Amino acid sequence: MNSPRATVSKILTYSIVDGPGNRLVIFLQGCNFNCTACHNPHTIGECNHCGDCVPACHADALSLVDGRIVFNPLTCDQCDDCLAVCPINANPMVRDYDVADILELARRHRPFLTGVTVSGGEPTRQLGFVVALFEAIKADEELAGLDCFIDSNGHLGASGWDSLLPVTDGVMLDIKSFDDAVHRELTGKENLKSLRSARLIHEAGKLYELRFLLVPGVTDSDDELDGLVDFMKDLGGDVRVKLNAFQHHGVRPKALEWEKMSKAGVDKAAARLREAGIPNVVTPAVYL
Ligand code: SF4
Ligand code: SF4
Repeated sequence: MNSPRATVSKILTYSIVDGPGNRLVIFLQGCNFNCTACHNPHTIGECNHCGDCVPACHADALSLVDGRIVFNPLTCDQCDDCLAVCPINANPMVRDYDVADILELARRHRPFLTGVTVSGGEPTRQLGFVVALFEAIKADEELAGLDCFIDSNGHLGASGWDSLLPVTDGVMLDIKSFDDAVHRELTGKENLKSLRSARLIHEAGKLYELRFLLVPGVTDSDDELDGLVDFMKDLGGDVRVKLNAFQHHGVRPKALEWEKMSKAGVDKAAARLREAGIPNVVTPAVYL
């Protein structure tokens, strides 16, 4: 049987910010949200081979061959000019990997790893690959000790989680807003599926962390924070919640009009949560 393949935007062989311990992180291309605040907007779209980015490359690393974009990593100097011109927030430098490729990479770095995280984009868009990868890790004698996490926006239905959760050790789930109208404005999609997913993952004992991005004047209102408190209490209050601070790095022009979130603003929100009876609140180590 062929090993399932995925379109990969980037791989980190060592990360301490994408789950517990030291992790191999695979960023999959493509997202079902279109978040204004996205720090990696070039992971959202899927390339349609229009060729618009070819002339933008000063290093001749891109060409169109038989109507498809071809990337030459040997001449690319990672200037990212191609990302800036893509009209659909895609990335011509993506690469296809199969499960066997990732297993090989994990084996090479095994002595330094605690686990594997699949992020994005939205990893559940390439669900078959993620399930096959996690199954393969758990069946592999050398890799079975690695825990398997995903970093998701939660816009996946119950049947998708049914296939994913049995082979997943932990989920880091983003909730963008507790107000559905704000959520639609920020992401282009309703928040109902993400909230349902959080409950379902928590019931399965796999919700490692709920993440909430604080944007001044957009998601840091008392109503939003009260929505977060109510939701956490509904889950049982024991879940770890990570408050992230909106910054300008990598975002699109509309989000540059928003203020950056300060440490003082995050600390104030964290204090409000703790006073309301949410004990397990994590705040950023750095503000960049
Ligand atoms: S990455 Fe964007 S600009 Fe380049 S070929 Fe694909 S869709 Fe066109
Ligand atoms: S990042 Fe893009 S534009 Fe820059 S050298 Fe590489 S392929 Fe070319």
